[in-house]
Amino acid sequence: MRLRSHAASTMTATTALLATIRRNGVVAFAPVASRRLVLAPGGGEPVVRCPPPSSSRLMFPPSSMSSSSSSSSSLQSRTRSHSSLFSATEEEIDPGIVEGTSLRVLKYPHPALRATNHEVPIEDLNGPGSEISKIVREMFLVMYASRGVGLAAPQVGINRRLMVYNESGDPKDWLGETVMINPKIVEYSDATDIEQEGCLSFPEIRGDVERSKWIKVEAVNLKGKKFKKKFKGWEARIFQHEYDHLDGKVFIDRLTADSRKEVKPRLDGLIADFGEGAAI
Ligand SMILES: [Zn+2]
Repeated sequence: MRLRSHAASTMTATTALLATIRRNGVVAFAPVASRRLVLAPGGGEPVVRCPPPSSSRLMFPPSSMSSSSSSSSSLQSRTRSHSSLFSATEEEIDPGIVEGTSLRVLKYPHPALRATNHEVPIEDLNGPGSEISKIVREMFLVMYASRGVGLAAPQVGINRRLMVYNESGDPKDWLGETVMINPKIVEYSDATDIEQEGCLSFPEIRGDVERSKWIKVEAVNLKGKKFKKKFKGWEARIFQHEYDHLDGKVFIDRLTADSRKEVKPRLDGLIADFGEGAAI
């Protein structure tokens, strides 16, 4: 598609600053808007207790796991002329069946992407042999196979407040692997920027999204231990994108007006392909 110089089309006197991002040696420029980003409240929701995590109960049935768009062979021929924020390489792919897991990335407008995501009960976080640890490992497998850098549980049909990401997208970079369970954004920066995003659940769709430049987050790890972290730049953007999934939001909900217009035909195509039961 494009390494679009949207700076030229959207820059105004109030969006004069430029931010740089780096992916794969590509540097893209995007305007930093000065207006404040209005975000839905991230915290304060009641803890919802769920049944014990048998994955079969947590997940949508496999028959509803749509992979409407593709066999991996046809996808391999896809090319893009730009790198994507949410792909580790130039393009994300639908890997089809991934060895070691039955999880598949669900495509918009699958209802799992809009469903309520419940907190993971702390008592379920009992070490490396736990069901959640297994799900996390499999989510990383799917994420790497899709050439993504982040994946939220609802994207694989598990409606829990759980996300994984690895900024580098490199499976060998295990130190870069981050698991966030029951995360809450406790502070957003007023300063925002606009960058292009994509999502594994939205094949071939890219668009500009305004997000806070930094955020402070609380979450628990796989051992049930609470931690706080501040993210900025690229990592803050990945986190906010994945966090939205946990609130049943997707990046198209936040597209700039220009991007929204641009992607509409493709979105309409995804909705038509999905047919009955679409959750728009
Ligand atoms: Zn996404």
